[in-house]
Amino acid sequence: MTHYKIALLDGDGIGPEIMVEAVKILNLVAERNKVEFELIHALFGASAYFECGHPFPEETKKICDEADAILKGPIGLSHEESQKIPVDMQPERGALLPLRRRYNTYANFRPVFLPKGLAHFSPLKAEIIGDGIDIMIIRELVGGLYFGEKQSGINSEGNRYVKETLEYDEVQIRRIAKVAFDTSMKRKKVLHNIHKSNVLKSSVLWNEVMAEVAVDYPEVKVINILVDAAATYLCLNPRQFDVMVMENMFGDILSDQGGGILGSLGLMPSACLGDEKAYYEPSHGSAPDIAGKNIANPYSMIGSVAMMLEMSFGMDQEAKNVWHAMQSVFAQGYSTPDLSKPGSGVKMIDTRGFGDLVVAELRKLPV
Ligand code: NAD
Repeated sequence: MTHYKIALLDGDGIGPEIMVEAVKILNLVAERNKVEFELIHALFGASAYFECGHPFPEETKKICDEADAILKGPIGLSHEESQKIPVDMQPERGALLPLRRRYNTYANFRPVFLPKGLAHFSPLKAEIIGDGIDIMIIRELVGGLYFGEKQSGINSEGNRYVKETLEYDEVQIRRIAKVAFDTSMKRKKVLHNIHKSNVLKSSVLWNEVMAEVAVDYPEVKVINILVDAAATYLCLNPRQFDVMVMENMFGDILSDQGGGILGSLGLMPSACLGDEKAYYEPSHGSAPDIAGKNIANPYSMIGSVAMMLEMSFGMDQEAKNVWHAMQSVFAQGYSTPDLSKPGSGVKMIDTRGFGDLVVAELRKLPV
């Protein structure tokens, strides 16, 4: 029996609600396979700050250090509630970025996937969806503007100012480039490199290194596109994309647009990989507008579990089963409220209902 320790960071807002559904799946996977999951909940985010004075407490760091993988719920508060926490203790600055830095999780995989049969979830026309959307966004996760040096204060003219630095070195770019090319080799061998080299010098270096790495992957067709144009094409013709690679902030923004073209951020799971440790999280935030109502879509959280099964534990078949179980639930006409309007002919289900149906579908599939 293989034993894995998984740190569960429930997070804020809808985090604890969708974590419950992810745990149902982990328990069933353990029941069906020769594997034991030791699940250890730990405080993280605004809830941790209010409970013990820090959004990433020492005890949580210890649990994460000792875990084989980390499953993280979304963190954060509404803009108004955030003001109750000192700026450097607010969840992203005080917990999320330090988590990414601690485990150097530089490679963020954000699948944007919608089969043809679920085209009605998307705000795009059926002819644009065609045979379905299947994109892997690869976002560099520990560099760029989010991790650069920051300064603020009063300048020599007596005005408040702020300065943030966008920094990359070639080592950082090369390692994410390799991840993107390796991923392309396993898919359609078409890689869209997203940049802004007409304005940003960081993109000039980014493109130079991409071109150098491309030499080792002659089978992969590289298409370079400016990030602003990429945003347009994601709406007008998303099927042209297979793997897209980009720096940190571009990836943050374009992957949310990915959720938009699917119909909801609730369809956006993700994996954040470093060389030694990985953590898994929905791409979206804590959705304070719907927290506590049992209506959040747990697909993003359960999909993150599927990515963990494949990428951290090598359980590829069971990962496929989890994806299949979730797609089957939708294919039977069920929908969570984020994806459909009442009266649109779907069978509306809530957060717990979706988790229960996925469990029932997974039970039907051979291990
Ligand atoms: P958000 O992603 O929380 O929500 C945007 C919209 O998507 C909302 O209408 C929300 O209801 C909906 N949504 C998101 N996830 C959903 C789900 N699973 N099911 C159904 N609907 C869903 O973005 P926001 O409101 O701008 O941010 C809220 C908080 O989350 C902020 O504090 C922000 O800083 C934080 N945040 C955290 C992360 C993270 O933990 N990695 C990522 C993004 C934002």
